[in-house]
Amino acid sequence: MDKEKKTALANDKVQVAATAALVPPIYPATVYACESPQQAADLLAGNTEGFIYSRDGHPNSDMLAEQCKAWHRAEQATITGSGMAALSLALLSQLQQGDHVLISHQLYGRTLSLFTTEAARWGIESTEVDTCDLDAVRTAIRDTTQLVIAETIANPLLHVADIGGLAEIAHTHAARLLIDNTFASPVLCRPLEWGADLVVESMTKIMNGHSDVILGCLCGKSSVWDRVPLAATTWGLFASPHSCWLSMRGMATMDLRVRQASSTAQELAERLVGHSAIRELHYPGLADNPHQRLAQKQFSTPGGQSRFGSMLTFRLAGDMGAVEKFIHALAPEIPFCPSLGDLKTTLSHPESTSHRELSPSQRKQLGIHSGTIRLSVGIEQANEIFAHVERGLEAIC
Ligand SMILES: *Cc1c(COP(=O)(O)O)cnc(C)c1O
Repeated sequence: MDKEKKTALANDKVQVAATAALVPPIYPATVYACESPQQAADLLAGNTEGFIYSRDGHPNSDMLAEQCKAWHRAEQATITGSGMAALSLALLSQLQQGDHVLISHQLYGRTLSLFTTEAARWGIESTEVDTCDLDAVRTAIRDTTQLVIAETIANPLLHVADIGGLAEIAHTHAARLLIDNTFASPVLCRPLEWGADLVVESMTKIMNGHSDVILGCLCGKSSVWDRVPLAATTWGLFASPHSCWLSMRGMATMDLRVRQASSTAQELAERLVGHSAIRELHYPGLADNPHQRLAQKQFSTPGGQSRFGSMLTFRLAGDMGAVEKFIHALAPEIPFCPSLGDLKTTLSHPESTSHRELSPSQRKQLGIHSGTIRLSVGIEQANEIFAHVERGLEAIC
């Protein structure tokens, strides 16, 4: 290559300037130019630091992975195209034919399908158990159990997992513990510090926090990481540079958002106690909630204070008729959106969305009724949210 052409190429690649950009650039490139066959071979083998093909890694996912590692005090982190891709990565890297996996019966619906129906097709057996009952976990665990899976805060009744207790049982049986921390976020809870080996986050929810990105993350200890990088690239679980970049912006305010939304949720819960239109109120920060003490121990924000999260669930006094009136009265300020973690407060109705595939008796067993409503509290002022909720409750009285 003549010298002039070489300089032009270099100038295309690097904007040399006397000042540094405050915000990181987006690297949409799918492929990187190599200096020599030796360098290409070293990059592809992972023997040299650097990028060659973006399915294997790119600067935006590396930057985001560093932030996830720091938040979770993790030795390792991989960013994936969705929360489900992060769970798939856990399955594909940790399990093989003949293994057994012990899962919480309250897992996110698609996670249940992944580790039961899908995993079964590959010869992996699963057992569902109430992971809040440690004796039941001790009874259900087998010699072939390789992985135990639970959620820090389960949907929709916000049951809290005893991560330390689960880790001890898993490790006694040479199994690993995977915690889905999506409903808590690392602001509230860092499961690796309590003994988990792997943590999944659906960054789509609280971590990005703006409902404009689908993304996931798997964090973990180096001791369980051997197969992760190769599984991520071979199964193609890649995250786009644009999504990673947007999530960095979302995460820049995560700490503020989670602290604000959690203290608002606490205030709303306390104000709703004893309301005549509410039959049951589930919030782990309420003094009489059966999970309060465990949550107090496991959850602490960087300021050192315990917070109990931005999710709040209650059962309306009434069935579908009451639910429809309530949803109608809250819109459009509090929209019915079957997801969580937005800047704005949203509501969901588990019976018709997240738990629609369960039979009525399965739902009843989990404590989910027609009147069950789940709020994902946003960063608005507590008074504003309370006024909307009260309007809905008055509509059904
Ligand atoms: C949404 C969600 C997932 C899946 O994440 P996606 O980003 O939608 O793929 C997994 N676990 C929990 C608890 C979730 O809420």
